[in-house]
Amino acid sequence: MEKIKMTTPLVEMDGDEMTRILWKMIKDELILPFVDLKTEYYDLGLVKRDETRDQITKDAAEANKKYGVAVKCATITPNAKRMDEYKLHEMWKSPNGTIRSILDGTVFRTPITIPSIHPVVKNWEQPITIARHAYGDVYKSVELRVEEEGVAKLVFEGKSGKKEEVVIHEFKGAGVLQGMHNLDKSIRSFAHSCFKFAIDTKQDLWFSTKDTISKKYDAQFREIFEEVYEKEYKAEFEKLGIEYFYTLIDDAVARVIRSKGGFIWACKNYDGDVMSDMVSTAFGSLAMMTSVLVSPDGNYEYEAAHGTVTRHYYKYLKGEETSTNPMATIFAWSGALRKRGEKDGIKELMNFADQLEGACFDTLNEGIATKDLVNLMEGVTPKAVNSNDFIGAIRERLEKRLA
Ligand code: NAP
Ligand code: MG
Repeated sequence: MEKIKMTTPLVEMDGDEMTRILWKMIKDELILPFVDLKTEYYDLGLVKRDETRDQITKDAAEANKKYGVAVKCATITPNAKRMDEYKLHEMWKSPNGTIRSILDGTVFRTPITIPSIHPVVKNWEQPITIARHAYGDVYKSVELRVEEEGVAKLVFEGKSGKKEEVVIHEFKGAGVLQGMHNLDKSIRSFAHSCFKFAIDTKQDLWFSTKDTISKKYDAQFREIFEEVYEKEYKAEFEKLGIEYFYTLIDDAVARVIRSKGGFIWACKNYDGDVMSDMVSTAFGSLAMMTSVLVSPDGNYEYEAAHGTVTRHYYKYLKGEETSTNPMATIFAWSGALRKRGEKDGIKELMNFADQLEGACFDTLNEGIATKDLVNLMEGVTPKAVNSNDFIGAIRERLEKRLA
């Protein structure tokens, strides 16, 4: 079989620990035999990040902007323990945070669903994608504890000299205070990323806030989404037969639970933090959750939602057999290759991505699975295998599909 040709390089961001091991296995077994792979390689492994004083992360993000599509392996976010373990010069920031701020993107998390693993919510038939706004609100707030009687005010001093002031509360005794903010620019970027992703995946977009209570702050989110939708996306949504639906957060929660799934739910920062863990847990396994960062100008970075699976890596280093699930990392590759194919008009590459995902489903539907999934499966007799054999089983089925 002739290998599939690519025209534009994919930005490849390598990573750490067990996922770095899986990364190589996936490339060697599932990509390189079939695709004449063109990548611009960035090693975001912690050793290289430290060596380059984290410049490599910024370079990788810039390359993502230049070429439009990246695939990323999970990476260690250093903490005090990692400082010792890797003898780091500095406690480098989370690469995901760095890349996100350079791309100004929104992260969309979608579970990979299979018939033998039933979501806790029995009427969910399709995956639900959560889009979390990743700027501001309580995550960038300032707080005060007050111990006595007094008045708290919210004050804005404009550069023009204009001053605005409102009383927050007249305290009769001790209490707590919080000040938070958001930016039109950030909300607008969030809106663009959400509408773009809905069009891309041909799914309805839901957005929820609490604008009945927060009549200026949350209302600004609603208004920006409405304005961006009307001006730039409505026609395309109507053409595709998909819907933009705004509702209150509490109404959204009730509707999500009663729904069949199959839509994107855009959430403010805090709501997204809470709801993404609820939704992903209800769908089954962290190892089956994919993640894509979409920038407002249409650049994409695909990855697994889980981390570097440190506990398995330490076992691997001791020579013990590991059964780490490569599904989300494989789907990061298929997602990126499909998007590259779409952008460059290479049908064979898009088809390859479909077949690769199909081969993964064939394998799981026959009950061949990594250990994390075995206990979750119903209606098949599961056979637990190690990562190597699992990837081998996928390769066999992929070859059959492509023949
Ligand atoms: P983790 O790597 O997601 O793993 C937590 C646990 O979840 C594992 O020990 C394992 O449970 C299970 N798990 C996760 N992915 C799995 C898979 N593919 N197959 C089978 N089981 C899987 O989270 P962590 O251990 O808290 O973090 C490890 C490192 O990853 C940290 O240094 C953190 O900074 C980094 N991290 C990176 C990203 C990213 O790059 N996007 C995201 C999160 C964390 P059992 O041990 O019970 O088998
Ligand atoms: Mg959280």
